[in-house]
Formats: sequence, structure tokens, C-alpha cells
Amino acid sequence: MAGLVIRGATIVDARGERSGDVRIRDGRIVEFGDIREVGDEPVLAANGRYVTPGLIDCHVHLCYEGGPSPQVMAKKTDAQLAIEAAAHARATLLAGVTTARDCGGRGFVETLVRDAIRGGLIEGPRLFTSGHPIVKKGGHMSYYARQTEGPADCATAAKEQIAMGVDWLKVVATGGITSPNVDPKVAELTEEMIRAVVEEGRRAGKPVAAHAHGGDGIRNALAAGVRSLEHGTFLDEAMIGMLLRDRVYLVPTLVATRAMIDAGTAKGVPEFAVRKASEIDPIRRRAFAECVKRGVRIAMGTDAGTPFNMHGENPRELELMVEAGMTPAQALEASTVTAAKMLGIDADVGLVAPGHAADVLVLARNPLDDPAAYRSDLAAVVRSGRLVLGPTDGWSQ
Ligand SMILES: [Zn+2]
Repeated sequence: MAGLVIRGATIVDARGERSGDVRIRDGRIVEFGDIREVGDEPVLAANGRYVTPGLIDCHVHLCYEGGPSPQVMAKKTDAQLAIEAAAHARATLLAGVTTARDCGGRGFVETLVRDAIRGGLIEGPRLFTSGHPIVKKGGHMSYYARQTEGPADCATAAKEQIAMGVDWLKVVATGGITSPNVDPKVAELTEEMIRAVVEEGRRAGKPVAAHAHGGDGIRNALAAGVRSLEHGTFLDEAMIGMLLRDRVYLVPTLVATRAMIDAGTAKGVPEFAVRKASEIDPIRRRAFAECVKRGVRIAMGTDAGTPFNMHGENPRELELMVEAGMTPAQALEASTVTAAKMLGIDADVGLVAPGHAADVLVLARNPLDDPAAYRSDLAAVVRSGRLVLGPTDGWSQ
């Protein structure tokens, strides 16, 4: 595989800012500093621009289209979902997200997309998948999820996902916003049911992510031993203490409610979803701010694919995290090293450093001055050493 030299950049990652050249070979960063000798590899003259690690989005749904209601999925065939998920994966990568975790799809379509990306058949981020969400019978997302009754059935459901090659397991601990007739405050899977999934996952080396808004559901998920808590709307002081004690990651997905509120019923978002999102939005932002203050491990995630939360707009989450209480440096950390740690790949991705995978972005503005730079000033995306977005002339010096 050909290499690449990025010249004259300011590197911005969780270790801070520094200037230098970056040499990439065989998909990895091999050298950083003052690089004089350039062979036949192409040179990207980044002079005056900023190089950051590719972003990691820990919560996407490649099978969701971003329309007014994800329930439209029920009317689609798996083949249709596969084509759409492949397009969504590409849009995600071109937005600067070089790694993503899918938190629930149908027919293992997202897992097949992961394999097609790995095989070089299609373009997309490094993907981690979780198959069908495991839910209570008739609960949130039951229109496509694996519905379960009781702990034994939950264990079977976990085995089914593992057999299909998923990387994570996803459980739904409370109601949610986008399904009618469920309440985000109400617990759905019981602690015993979640524990059955966690234990099955542990036997196979698959961690568990739990969707949870209400306090009872959050407590059930944490007591059962999940690794990541998705949304975490009604987190209180005691629950934050549990997160810290058990080293559980919070994936806030702030942009999901904001996108639904902004679009509103005018754009066709169901009235029940707009109502629940409006109620939840200020509460979750307060809980998020408290988690930032207390030092909870926070990994960036968007819930991309939910209503008007479009694949390819993922970096908007960093803007909202800063608006809700993080510094831009903390938002960068949540979107790179912390997310990588949660996924167990921090030795490999999340920093612009020799030995790490060459997943980097070039930005025309410093994201530490304004995280909106990820959306407005993205000049290049390098994934595994390949320029997938950027100038064809290498920004001739
Ligand atoms: Zn989700």
C-alpha cells in the first residue's frame, strides 16, 4: 500500500497541540516530526491546517434513514436496508467519523456492511455492531428488535446475536422517544433479564450497551453490569456514583433530541416523539453537565439515523457537548481516546501518534477554538492511510 506524507500540520489530539510532519505507511502512522526525506509517496501540504484523529461515533443506526420516524423500517426489505446502510456508512466516513459503533439494526444488515467495509468492497468507518436490540416483548423498538420474555429467553437472544458475529450486545432498559405507547421513564427489561444478556456476553467476550432514560432502568442496567449507558437522561447523584465506581461509559446522544425538536411536527415527526423529546432535552443536558463535572467517562455518540439526525452530520454532537458544559478539548477527548478505550481499541486508534492507525482528519480551522470546524472546515479524511476525501492535487506547496 502506498504511503502519504502530511506536511506542516498542527496536530491536535488528546495529548495537546504540536507542529510537525506525519508519515503514513501501510495504513499506519510511522513517523512524526521534521520529515526531510520524501520518497515517491504523495505529499499533502497541510501548511496552516490542523490534523486531528478521525472521530469515533459510539452510537449510530445505519439501518435508520433519518426520516420523520424510524418505524418506516418495518415497510422495507432487508435488501433495501442493506443498500441504504452502505450509503449511510459512506456518508458517516466522509463526515470525518473513521470509527463507529452501530447500536441496533435488522437482519444483521449492519454486520454485513461492517464485513463489506473490512473486505474493501465498500467505503465506511471501522464498524462495531450489535445486531438486533434485545427488548421486552412489546417494548421500545419492538417493531424490529428481538423481543424477549424472561431471563432464559434473553440469554437465547444474546446467543443468537453472538452467533451472527456481532461485537457488542444492545439491551433496551427503558421506554424511548421514537416508539408510541412507551414511556422513557418506565423500566422495560428487568435487572435479571439484562444480567442474563451480560453473562452470555461475558462468556463470548461481548460487552453490553444499555439504552436507558429513566432511573429504574438505569439502576437495573448498572446493577446487571453493562459497559455503556446510552442516553442516561434521569441520572442522579447516586447513579453517577455507580457509573464512576463501576467505570461505566456514558454515551449521551445530545443531538438526537435536539434534531427532533428542531424539525418538529412541521417536518412530520410524530407529535408523541416531539413531546417526549422536548421533555427530555433539558433534563439530559443537566445530567450531562453533572457527569462532566464529576468526571464520568463520556464517549461521543449521536444516535444518527433517528429523526432528522442525519448520517454525515455526526460531528454536530461535539458542538452540543460544548454547549452543554464540556470544553472543546474534552469533546475531542470524548470523541477519540475515551471512545477508543470503551471500544477496546485505544492502542490502535484515537491519537495522531506513531504506531496508531492512520485515521486522521485535516481541518482548515482549529477545532479547539470552535468544534463547528469539524462540519464547516473539513478539508481531508484519511482512513487507514487512504485519502478518502480531500484535494486531488495535494494542496501544492
Ligand atoms: Zn439508539
